[in-house]
Amino acid sequence: MSSACAPIEYAPFDERLIPCVQALLINPIRENVRGSTLTTFAIGGTLRAVVTVETADELSKVVALLSSEGQGCRVLGNGSNILCGDSPVEGWVLKLGTGFRKVESLSRGVLEVSGSVPLMSFARKVSDEGLSGLEFAAGIPATIGGAVFMNAGAHGDEICSRIVEVRGVLADGSSVVWQRDELPWRYRHAGLPTGCVVTSVRLSLVEGDRATISERCAHNLAERKARQPLALPSAGSIFKNPSPELPAGMLLERIGMKGVTIGGAMISEMHANWIVNPKREATAQDVLALIEACKAKALAEEGIVLEPEVRLWM
Ligand code: FAD
Repeated sequence: MSSACAPIEYAPFDERLIPCVQALLINPIRENVRGSTLTTFAIGGTLRAVVTVETADELSKVVALLSSEGQGCRVLGNGSNILCGDSPVEGWVLKLGTGFRKVESLSRGVLEVSGSVPLMSFARKVSDEGLSGLEFAAGIPATIGGAVFMNAGAHGDEICSRIVEVRGVLADGSSVVWQRDELPWRYRHAGLPTGCVVTSVRLSLVEGDRATISERCAHNLAERKARQPLALPSAGSIFKNPSPELPAGMLLERIGMKGVTIGGAMISEMHANWIVNPKREATAQDVLALIEACKAKALAEEGIVLEPEVRLWM
Protein backbone atom coordinates (compact mmCIF):
# COMPACT_ATOMS: atom_id res chain seq x y z
CA MET A 1 0.00 0.00 0.00
CA SER A 2 1.25 3.51 -0.76
CA SER A 3 2.57 5.59 2.10
CA ALA A 4 1.63 9.21 2.75
CA CYS A 5 2.78 11.77 0.21
CA ALA A 6 6.55 11.63 -0.37
CA PRO A 7 7.31 12.11 -4.08
CA ILE A 8 7.59 8.82 -5.97
CA GLU A 9 10.59 8.26 -8.26
CA TYR A 10 9.66 7.59 -11.88
CA ALA A 11 11.79 6.10 -14.65
CA PRO A 12 12.85 8.61 -17.33
CA PHE A 13 10.08 9.13 -19.86
CA ASP A 14 10.52 6.91 -22.94
CA GLU A 15 9.11 8.84 -25.89
CA ARG A 16 9.64 5.88 -28.23
CA LEU A 17 6.51 4.37 -26.66
CA ILE A 18 4.24 7.20 -27.80
CA PRO A 19 3.10 5.53 -31.06
CA CYS A 20 2.44 2.18 -29.27
CA VAL A 21 0.34 3.87 -26.58
CA GLN A 22 -1.43 6.06 -29.14
CA ALA A 23 -2.45 2.93 -31.04
CA LEU A 24 -4.47 1.83 -27.98
CA LEU A 25 -6.34 5.11 -27.59
CA ILE A 26 -9.34 6.97 -28.98
CA ASN A 27 -8.03 10.39 -27.86
CA PRO A 28 -4.78 11.94 -29.09
CA ILE A 29 -1.95 11.94 -26.53
CA ARG A 30 -1.18 15.48 -25.40
CA GLU A 31 2.57 16.04 -25.20
CA ASN A 32 4.46 18.62 -23.15
CA VAL A 33 1.48 20.09 -21.33
CA ARG A 34 2.19 22.69 -18.63
CA GLY A 35 1.31 21.33 -15.18
CA SER A 36 0.16 24.86 -14.35
CA THR A 37 -2.76 24.46 -16.78
CA LEU A 38 -3.95 21.23 -15.15
CA THR A 39 -3.73 22.06 -11.46
CA THR A 40 -5.69 24.48 -9.27
CA PHE A 41 -2.37 25.79 -7.89
CA ALA A 42 -1.57 27.05 -11.42
CA ILE A 43 2.04 25.98 -10.88
CA GLY A 44 4.24 23.53 -12.69
CA GLY A 45 6.48 22.71 -15.61
CA THR A 46 6.05 20.24 -18.39
CA LEU A 47 4.18 16.98 -18.13
CA ARG A 48 5.65 14.82 -20.87
CA ALA A 49 2.51 12.98 -21.99
CA VAL A 50 -1.10 13.26 -20.85
CA VAL A 51 -3.16 10.24 -21.84
CA THR A 52 -6.94 10.56 -21.56
CA VAL A 53 -8.70 7.20 -21.50
CA GLU A 54 -12.39 6.69 -22.22
CA THR A 55 -12.98 3.02 -21.33
CA ALA A 56 -11.79 0.51 -18.74
CA ASP A 57 -10.42 -1.62 -21.56
CA GLU A 58 -8.28 1.23 -22.92
CA LEU A 59 -7.09 2.01 -19.41
CA SER A 60 -6.08 -1.61 -18.66
CA LYS A 61 -4.19 -1.95 -21.93
CA VAL A 62 -2.30 1.34 -21.55
CA VAL A 63 -1.37 0.67 -17.93
CA ALA A 64 -0.27 -2.91 -18.72
CA LEU A 65 1.86 -1.79 -21.66
CA LEU A 66 3.57 1.00 -19.73
CA SER A 67 4.24 -1.14 -16.68
CA SER A 68 5.69 -3.95 -18.87
CA GLU A 69 8.08 -1.30 -20.27
CA GLY A 70 9.05 -0.13 -16.77
CA GLN A 71 7.27 3.21 -17.20
CA GLY A 72 5.32 4.72 -14.31
CA CYS A 73 1.90 6.36 -14.51
CA ARG A 74 0.62 9.28 -12.47
CA VAL A 75 -3.13 9.61 -12.20
CA LEU A 76 -4.59 13.09 -12.56
CA GLY A 77 -8.04 13.92 -11.28
CA ASN A 78 -8.97 17.59 -11.16
CA GLY A 79 -5.45 18.54 -10.05
CA SER A 80 -6.75 20.17 -6.85
CA ASN A 81 -4.25 18.53 -4.51
CA ILE A 82 -1.10 18.44 -6.63
CA LEU A 83 2.04 20.55 -6.59
CA CYS A 84 3.67 19.96 -9.93
CA GLY A 85 7.46 20.51 -10.16
CA ASP A 86 9.12 23.24 -12.20
CA SER A 87 11.31 20.91 -14.31
CA PRO A 88 9.79 18.41 -16.72
CA VAL A 89 7.98 15.80 -14.63
CA GLU A 90 8.84 12.19 -15.44
CA GLY A 91 6.15 9.54 -15.82
CA TRP A 92 3.05 9.31 -17.98
CA VAL A 93 -0.03 11.13 -16.80
CA LEU A 94 -3.32 9.27 -17.01
CA LYS A 95 -6.62 11.06 -16.95
CA LEU A 96 -10.10 9.55 -16.98
CA GLY A 97 -12.13 11.07 -19.82
CA THR A 98 -15.83 11.74 -20.23
CA GLY A 99 -16.42 8.00 -20.58
CA PHE A 100 -15.87 7.90 -16.80
CA ARG A 101 -18.53 10.48 -15.97
CA LYS A 102 -21.38 8.06 -15.38
CA VAL A 103 -23.71 7.83 -12.42
CA GLU A 104 -25.94 4.78 -12.11
CA SER A 105 -28.61 4.41 -9.47
CA LEU A 106 -28.64 0.77 -8.26
CA SER A 107 -31.38 1.26 -5.67
CA ARG A 108 -32.66 4.28 -3.75
CA GLY A 109 -29.52 5.85 -2.22
CA VAL A 110 -27.04 3.33 -3.64
CA LEU A 111 -25.14 4.79 -6.58
CA GLU A 112 -22.30 3.61 -8.81
CA VAL A 113 -20.27 6.72 -9.62
CA SER A 114 -17.43 6.76 -12.17
CA GLY A 115 -14.00 8.18 -11.38
CA SER A 116 -14.05 11.47 -13.29
CA VAL A 117 -17.46 12.64 -12.04
CA PRO A 118 -16.92 16.04 -10.36
CA LEU A 119 -17.56 15.63 -6.63
CA MET A 120 -19.04 19.10 -6.03
CA SER A 121 -21.75 18.99 -8.69
CA PHE A 122 -22.54 15.36 -7.85
CA ALA A 123 -22.88 16.23 -4.15
CA ARG A 124 -25.21 19.12 -5.05
CA LYS A 125 -27.32 16.89 -7.31
CA VAL A 126 -27.86 14.14 -4.74
CA SER A 127 -28.55 16.71 -2.05
CA ASP A 128 -31.21 18.32 -4.29
CA GLU A 129 -32.74 14.86 -4.67
CA GLY A 130 -33.05 14.47 -0.91
CA LEU A 131 -30.11 12.12 -0.39
CA SER A 132 -27.92 12.89 2.59
CA GLY A 133 -24.25 12.00 3.15
CA LEU A 134 -22.22 14.30 0.91
CA GLU A 135 -23.05 17.65 2.48
CA PHE A 136 -19.42 17.87 3.65
CA ALA A 137 -18.27 17.89 0.01
CA ALA A 138 -19.77 21.28 -0.85
CA GLY A 139 -16.81 23.29 -2.13
CA ILE A 140 -14.28 20.46 -2.60
CA PRO A 141 -13.11 20.73 -6.26
CA ALA A 142 -12.29 17.03 -6.64
CA THR A 143 -13.17 14.24 -9.02
CA ILE A 144 -14.69 11.16 -7.41
CA GLY A 145 -11.45 9.20 -8.11
CA GLY A 146 -9.28 11.86 -6.49
CA ALA A 147 -11.64 12.18 -3.54
CA VAL A 148 -11.49 8.43 -2.94
CA PHE A 149 -7.70 8.26 -3.32
CA MET A 150 -7.29 11.12 -0.82
CA ASN A 151 -10.22 10.11 1.39
CA ALA A 152 -11.38 13.71 1.06
CA GLY A 153 -13.28 15.16 3.96
CA ALA A 154 -14.41 18.26 5.78
CA HIS A 155 -16.62 19.32 8.68
CA GLY A 156 -15.76 16.14 10.60
CA ASP A 157 -16.90 13.83 7.81
CA GLU A 158 -15.06 12.01 5.01
CA ILE A 159 -15.94 10.16 1.85
CA CYS A 160 -14.94 6.70 3.13
CA SER A 161 -17.93 6.67 5.46
CA ARG A 162 -20.26 6.58 2.40
CA ILE A 163 -18.32 3.97 0.43
CA VAL A 164 -19.58 0.44 -0.16
CA GLU A 165 -16.95 -0.64 -2.66
CA VAL A 166 -14.16 0.76 -4.84
CA ARG A 167 -13.35 -0.46 -8.34
CA GLY A 168 -10.03 0.15 -10.01
CA VAL A 169 -7.27 -0.97 -12.29
CA LEU A 170 -3.93 -2.02 -10.81
CA ALA A 171 -0.49 -1.08 -12.14
CA ASP A 172 -0.30 -4.35 -14.13
CA GLY A 173 -3.59 -3.59 -15.90
CA SER A 174 -5.74 -6.07 -13.93
CA SER A 175 -9.12 -5.07 -12.50
CA VAL A 176 -9.79 -5.03 -8.81
CA VAL A 177 -12.77 -4.52 -6.50
CA TRP A 178 -12.38 -3.70 -2.82
CA GLN A 179 -15.16 -3.77 -0.29
CA ARG A 180 -14.93 -0.75 1.97
CA ASP A 181 -13.43 -2.64 4.90
CA GLU A 182 -10.69 -4.16 2.77
CA LEU A 183 -8.93 -0.79 2.49
CA PRO A 184 -6.98 0.77 5.39
CA TRP A 185 -8.79 4.14 5.38
CA ARG A 186 -7.13 6.85 7.39
CA TYR A 187 -7.29 10.62 7.58
CA ARG A 188 -6.70 11.87 3.96
CA HIS A 189 -5.48 8.44 2.88
CA ALA A 190 -7.31 5.50 1.34
CA GLY A 191 -4.24 3.25 1.35
CA LEU A 192 -4.65 2.33 -2.32
CA PRO A 193 -1.65 0.63 -3.96
CA THR A 194 0.73 2.88 -5.92
CA GLY A 195 -0.32 3.17 -9.55
CA CYS A 196 -3.89 1.98 -8.94
CA VAL A 197 -6.53 3.94 -10.86
CA VAL A 198 -9.95 4.29 -9.23
CA THR A 199 -12.50 3.83 -12.02
CA SER A 200 -15.70 3.91 -9.95
CA VAL A 201 -17.08 3.76 -6.47
CA ARG A 202 -20.33 2.52 -5.00
CA LEU A 203 -21.75 4.95 -2.49
CA SER A 204 -24.56 4.51 -0.02
CA LEU A 205 -26.49 7.67 0.87
CA VAL A 206 -29.50 8.01 3.10
CA GLU A 207 -32.92 9.45 2.48
CA GLY A 208 -33.44 12.76 4.26
CA ASP A 209 -35.38 15.96 4.32
CA ARG A 210 -34.45 18.06 1.27
CA ALA A 211 -34.64 21.41 3.01
CA THR A 212 -32.46 20.24 5.91
CA ILE A 213 -29.88 18.75 3.56
CA SER A 214 -29.73 21.94 1.43
CA GLU A 215 -29.40 24.02 4.56
CA ARG A 216 -26.43 21.90 5.73
CA CYS A 217 -24.74 22.26 2.30
CA ALA A 218 -25.30 26.03 2.29
CA HIS A 219 -23.99 26.32 5.85
CA ASN A 220 -20.84 24.32 5.02
CA LEU A 221 -20.21 26.39 1.92
CA ALA A 222 -20.72 29.68 3.74
CA GLU A 223 -18.30 28.61 6.46
CA ARG A 224 -15.74 27.70 3.81
CA LYS A 225 -16.14 31.05 2.02
CA ALA A 226 -15.69 32.93 5.27
CA ARG A 227 -12.48 31.12 6.24
CA GLN A 228 -10.70 30.09 3.04
CA PRO A 229 -9.09 32.13 0.21
CA LEU A 230 -11.21 30.45 -2.47
CA ALA A 231 -10.67 33.17 -5.08
CA LEU A 232 -6.91 32.52 -5.31
CA PRO A 233 -5.05 29.60 -6.93
CA SER A 234 -4.16 27.00 -4.28
CA ALA A 235 -4.29 23.30 -3.50
CA GLY A 236 -6.48 23.70 -0.42
CA SER A 237 -4.86 22.72 2.87
CA ILE A 238 -1.12 22.21 2.56
CA PHE A 239 -0.58 20.15 5.73
CA LYS A 240 -2.59 17.45 7.44
CA ASN A 241 -3.93 18.47 10.82
CA PRO A 242 -1.55 17.18 13.53
CA SER A 243 -4.67 16.25 15.56
CA PRO A 244 -8.39 17.11 15.58
CA GLU A 245 -7.72 19.39 18.57
CA LEU A 246 -4.85 21.20 16.83
CA PRO A 247 -5.63 22.02 13.19
CA ALA A 248 -2.52 22.88 11.16
CA GLY A 249 -3.98 26.34 10.42
CA MET A 250 -4.26 27.16 14.11
CA LEU A 251 -0.70 25.98 14.76
CA LEU A 252 0.75 27.92 11.81
CA GLU A 253 -1.11 31.06 12.79
CA ARG A 254 0.17 30.72 16.36
CA ILE A 255 3.79 30.55 15.19
CA GLY A 256 3.36 33.63 13.00
CA MET A 257 3.33 32.14 9.51
CA LYS A 258 0.32 34.04 8.12
CA GLY A 259 1.36 36.30 5.26
CA VAL A 260 4.91 34.89 4.98
CA THR A 261 5.92 35.10 1.32
CA ILE A 262 8.64 33.41 -0.71
CA GLY A 263 8.86 34.42 -4.37
CA GLY A 264 5.33 34.30 -5.76
CA ALA A 265 3.93 31.99 -3.06
CA MET A 266 2.31 33.27 0.11
CA ILE A 267 0.81 31.77 3.23
CA SER A 268 -2.73 33.07 3.12
CA GLU A 269 -3.63 35.93 5.46
CA MET A 270 -7.07 34.34 5.68
CA HIS A 271 -6.04 30.75 6.56
CA ALA A 272 -2.51 29.84 7.63
CA ASN A 273 -2.75 26.27 6.28
CA TRP A 274 -3.30 27.52 2.73
CA ILE A 275 -0.48 28.54 0.43
CA VAL A 276 -1.75 30.72 -2.38
CA ASN A 277 -0.37 31.81 -5.73
CA PRO A 278 -1.99 35.26 -5.96
CA LYS A 279 -0.33 36.52 -9.14
CA ARG A 280 0.05 33.10 -10.78
CA GLU A 281 3.82 33.67 -10.72
CA ALA A 282 4.85 31.20 -7.99
CA THR A 283 7.19 28.34 -8.77
CA ALA A 284 7.07 24.91 -7.16
CA GLN A 285 10.39 25.81 -5.50
CA ASP A 286 8.74 28.83 -3.85
CA VAL A 287 6.00 26.59 -2.42
CA LEU A 288 8.48 23.92 -1.32
CA ALA A 289 10.55 26.58 0.45
CA LEU A 290 7.44 27.79 2.30
CA ILE A 291 6.55 24.20 3.22
CA GLU A 292 10.04 23.70 4.64
CA ALA A 293 9.87 27.01 6.54
CA CYS A 294 6.54 25.98 8.14
CA LYS A 295 7.85 22.52 9.05
CA ALA A 296 11.06 23.89 10.56
CA LYS A 297 9.25 26.50 12.68
CA ALA A 298 6.54 24.08 13.85
CA LEU A 299 9.23 21.65 14.96
CA ALA A 300 11.50 24.23 16.57
CA GLU A 301 8.77 26.14 18.42
CA GLU A 302 6.13 23.51 19.14
CA GLY A 303 7.94 20.18 18.70
CA ILE A 304 5.35 19.18 16.09
CA VAL A 305 6.15 17.39 12.82
CA LEU A 306 3.89 18.68 10.04
CA GLU A 307 3.09 16.29 7.20
CA PRO A 308 2.09 17.71 3.80
CA GLU A 309 -1.36 16.77 2.52
CA VAL A 310 -0.59 18.08 -0.98
CA ARG A 311 0.84 15.49 -3.38
CA LEU A 312 4.24 16.39 -4.78
CA TRP A 313 4.79 15.62 -8.47
CA MET A 314 8.51 16.26 -8.84
P1 FAD B 1 -5.87 15.30 -7.87
O1 FAD B 1 -5.50 16.52 -7.15
O2 FAD B 1 -5.83 15.31 -9.33
O3 FAD B 1 -4.99 14.10 -7.32
C1 FAD B 1 -4.76 13.93 -5.94
C2 FAD B 1 -4.20 12.53 -5.71
O4 FAD B 1 -5.19 11.58 -6.07
C3 FAD B 1 -2.99 12.24 -6.61
O5 FAD B 1 -2.09 11.41 -5.90
C4 FAD B 1 -3.60 11.49 -7.78
O6 FAD B 1 -2.67 10.62 -8.41
C5 FAD B 1 -4.70 10.71 -7.09
N1 FAD B 1 -5.82 10.42 -7.99
C6 FAD B 1 -6.63 11.31 -8.63
N2 FAD B 1 -7.58 10.66 -9.33
C7 FAD B 1 -7.36 9.34 -9.13
C8 FAD B 1 -8.00 8.15 -9.59
N3 FAD B 1 -9.06 8.17 -10.41
N4 FAD B 1 -7.49 6.96 -9.18
C9 FAD B 1 -6.42 6.91 -8.34
N5 FAD B 1 -5.77 7.99 -7.89
C10 FAD B 1 -6.24 9.19 -8.27
N6 FAD B 1 -9.55 18.28 0.38
C11 FAD B 1 -10.26 17.78 1.40
O7 FAD B 1 -10.08 16.61 1.76
N7 FAD B 1 -11.17 18.54 2.06
C12 FAD B 1 -11.44 19.81 1.69
O8 FAD B 1 -12.28 20.46 2.31
C13 FAD B 1 -10.72 20.36 0.58
N8 FAD B 1 -10.97 21.61 0.16
C14 FAD B 1 -10.30 22.09 -0.92
C15 FAD B 1 -10.62 23.36 -1.39
C16 FAD B 1 -9.93 23.88 -2.50
C17 FAD B 1 -10.29 25.26 -3.01
C18 FAD B 1 -8.91 23.14 -3.11
C19 FAD B 1 -8.15 23.70 -4.30
C20 FAD B 1 -8.60 21.86 -2.66
C21 FAD B 1 -9.29 21.33 -1.56
N9 FAD B 1 -9.03 20.04 -1.09
C22 FAD B 1 -9.75 19.54 -0.05
C23 FAD B 1 -7.98 19.23 -1.73
C24 FAD B 1 -8.48 18.37 -2.92
O9 FAD B 1 -9.64 18.92 -3.49
C25 FAD B 1 -8.74 16.93 -2.50
O10 FAD B 1 -7.57 16.31 -2.03
C26 FAD B 1 -9.31 16.08 -3.63
O11 FAD B 1 -9.67 14.83 -3.11
C27 FAD B 1 -8.37 15.90 -4.81
O12 FAD B 1 -9.13 15.41 -5.90
P2 FAD B 1 -8.66 15.60 -7.41
O13 FAD B 1 -9.62 14.90 -8.29
O14 FAD B 1 -8.44 17.02 -7.71
O15 FAD B 1 -7.31 14.81 -7.38
